[in-house]
Amino acid sequence: MGRTLVLNRSFRAVAVADWQRALTLVYMGLAEALDEELTPYDFTAWVEASSSWAEPPAGFVRSPRLRLAVPEVIRLVRYDRVPHREVAFSRHNVFARDGHRCAYCGRRRPSEELDLDHVVPKSRGGPHEWTNVVTSCRGCNLRKADKLPDEAGMPLKFKPAKPPWTLLGSLIPHPRESLPQSWRRLIPADA
Ligand SMILES: [Zn+2]
Repeated sequence: MGRTLVLNRSFRAVAVADWQRALTLVYMGLAEALDEELTPYDFTAWVEASSSWAEPPAGFVRSPRLRLAVPEVIRLVRYDRVPHREVAFSRHNVFARDGHRCAYCGRRRPSEELDLDHVVPKSRGGPHEWTNVVTSCRGCNLRKADKLPDEAGMPLKFKPAKPPWTLLGSLIPHPRESLPQSWRRLIPADA
C-alpha cells in the first residue's frame, strides 16, 4: 500500500505518513488531500471523488460501504493542532536536519567525514541539544575548537533549531528515481 507525502501549510514536504494516518488527518479536518494537480479536497469531497476514479496511483482502501483512494499527497491546514511526534536527538538526525552540510563552511560531506560541533562549547556550559549542536566538517571542527563562533571568526550559516516533525531525509527512500512521480517536484533535491 502506498505511503503519503505530508506537506505543511506552505506546501513544504515535512513527513511521510502511512495511509491510515494520512486519511485520519483528512477525516479529522487537520489536512486536505491533494490530487495530481494539487487541487485540495476535504474528506467529503475526497470520498465523492474516489467513487469516480478508476485506478488511483496509490490504490484504494475498501470497506463494505466505501471505496476510498489513498492520497499520495496531503497538506496540513492546521499545522499547530497536529499531534506532535518527537524527533529523536541523534547524530544521524542532526546531519539529516543540516542536509549533511557543515554549518560553518557550508560544504557537504558524507557522514563519515562529519562531526557534531557544540556552538557554545561543552567546556563553557553549552548544552547537548538541538539548538546548540550543528553539523561540522573535520577541518572547521578543529579550527573552532573551544571557541565561540564570534571568537573563532566562524559565523554560523543558519540558526540551529529542533525540527518540528519526523525528518524527511531519513524516511525518503533512495534513489530519488524510486519516489512516486507526484512526490518528486515537492521534495527538494537535498532532502
Ligand atoms: Zn566546514
